Amino acid sequence: MKYKGFLLDIDDTIYDYTSANNVALNQVVQFCKAEFNLDENVVRNAYMQARKKTHFILQGTGSSHNRLLYIQKMLEDLGINPLRYGLQIYNIYWDTFLENMQVFPFVDEFFDKFGVQICFVTDLTSHIQFRKIQQLGLADKVKYMVTSEETGHEKPHPFTFLQGLQKLNLPIEQVCMIGDSFEKDILGARNIGLDAFWLNLANKKREYNDKGIIEILSFSDLKNYL
Ligand SMILES: [Mg+2]
Repeated sequence: MKYKGFLLDIDDTIYDYTSANNVALNQVVQFCKAEFNLDENVVRNAYMQARKKTHFILQGTGSSHNRLLYIQKMLEDLGINPLRYGLQIYNIYWDTFLENMQVFPFVDEFFDKFGVQICFVTDLTSHIQFRKIQQLGLADKVKYMVTSEETGHEKPHPFTFLQGLQKLNLPIEQVCMIGDSFEKDILGARNIGLDAFWLNLANKKREYNDKGIIEILSFSDLKNYL
């Protein structure tokens, strides 16, 4: 096989992020509805606004994804003491999320075969990405991860990819990137000359014609190339 190592995105690449996030967010909304006697839509809107503000202020950093910051801001806007309830709601969110992560077909086989050759490259805070990897049973199979909290920059910034290569200790031509975001994962990888597999889950139209990019429509399509 051509590749000796893999840089691998986590969210929406090895499991279905959207469905886990929907269930977790709904659990938060139901808790706030019952505990504070609030309308569901009021809570949901407050959360989305708080998320938007956090993204705006912390754009390009791992902290921009920190749910504790979203929840703190949401509670402040709703006039509820975040120091009393913030951590409890944060734990409801992530505990529910972790329980509801569904890995894509072929992920387990992929890690059984290539685990030691993988470095995760991911835009989020390290604490929760470590928890996800443990929950998915991958902590004994994979040794390396680079998060945007660790590098101070989010993909497509080259730092994340370059640190991943360093951790794998492999030359660039022996490594490929696998990820779902064309802008972050694929253009970021191609920017430093890494080959890339684009997991095009939404079957989007491809914008660039580039021989270094192989498009796949499901994770299990990787079988055909490895
Ligand atoms: Mg992703």
